[in-house]
Amino acid sequence: MSQNKIYLDNNATTPCDPRVVEAMLPYFYEHPGNAASRNHPFGWEAESAVDKAREQIADLLQVDAKEIIFTSGATEADNLALKGVYEMYSRKGNHIITLQTEHKAVLDACKKIEKMGGEVTFLKVQRDGLVDLAELEAAITDKTILISIMYANNETGVIQPMKEIGQICEKHGVLFMSDATQAVGKVPVYPKELGIHLMAFTGHKMYGPKGVGALFVNRKNPRVKVTSQMDGGGHERGMRSGTLNVPGIVGFGKAAEIAKSEMEDEAVRLAKLRDKLEHAFLSQVEETYVNGSIEHRMPHVTNISFKHVEGEGLMMTFNQNLALSSGSACTSASLEPSYVLIALGLGDDLAHSSLRFSLGRFNTEEEIDRVIDSVSQGVQHMRDLSPIWEMYKDGVDLESVVWQEH
Ligand SMILES: *Cc1c(COP(=O)(O)O)cnc(C)c1O
Repeated sequence: MSQNKIYLDNNATTPCDPRVVEAMLPYFYEHPGNAASRNHPFGWEAESAVDKAREQIADLLQVDAKEIIFTSGATEADNLALKGVYEMYSRKGNHIITLQTEHKAVLDACKKIEKMGGEVTFLKVQRDGLVDLAELEAAITDKTILISIMYANNETGVIQPMKEIGQICEKHGVLFMSDATQAVGKVPVYPKELGIHLMAFTGHKMYGPKGVGALFVNRKNPRVKVTSQMDGGGHERGMRSGTLNVPGIVGFGKAAEIAKSEMEDEAVRLAKLRDKLEHAFLSQVEETYVNGSIEHRMPHVTNISFKHVEGEGLMMTFNQNLALSSGSACTSASLEPSYVLIALGLGDDLAHSSLRFSLGRFNTEEEIDRVIDSVSQGVQHMRDLSPIWEMYKDGVDLESVVWQEH
């Protein structure tokens, strides 16, 4: 990566670890086999490489390797879990419960399920981004087959009370699915301890390659099944057909192995850097707010609103040298405030004024120091030019101002 550019958008995707790339390379040319070719050594080699990766991933999660179904990523794993359970368990019921702050892969799959005749409850969250457990339990009906709640939110890093949710699912005999894409490989995630029956995650958010992910499907007590959404050769125990992406899977496995041995120290290091960054803004820049729970969140993420400063505009002051995400999402014609931040109760203006800082394995303290400087200066610069900020400093109550329409 370039010397000047700083990458702090690790929740969008992580760089592929060079050790992962090295493990993958032989599987493009030297070992070209199809893991489904049963009658020659090329196929056996590919199959054993896939088996090894499956073990590495199962090891990270403390599950059985047979419980890992490879997919093209977390989007596909989310779709397979939700639609696959909806179809497989349709005789039991048609109701699914999820959160308004889920990733689009979950929300849009649920909307499709509604069109197919299902019923979906999209629960709101509390101010800190956490689900209200009493509300969750009260939403369960005799038609409920599945609760789908993400482990950690991609925009805020907020971690849901997984164990308690698992207990509620167990008590009511409902399956528990989790999109754990942002947590796997960064913090310990053990689905068996949490009562999770299906769990989606992906290589490219944990220093592996893009285009390969997995769905964990519990095999015993209870034995969970999903209806395949991709039909063909019957790969992956019939749940997901399609030739396996052998080099990608090898890289995904290597990424899991590295995560298992390094994530504990890495989380401590990144939390220190994240806290340094956050404290600097909160103490040096007026009117800054952290969005989402401070206590229950991932160690490498902070989402901060700089009041009266547009996040998108602020990013332009960095001359494309700093990669971050803003709390604005580009839809067809306009910038919409992030639905996740709106669900936390932020107004449109505070949502638009937010930036997500997501740190990763390759960030250094020197980079964090530079980010503190450029963001603080950028905010100051934007506010110096802002009539709204001037009014605010003059003590004008902005809520009471009647804006003229022209
Ligand atoms: C990135 C992400 C996804 C999508 O993963 P892909 O592998 O890119 O399809 C799904 N859910 C969450 C929470 C994510 O952060």
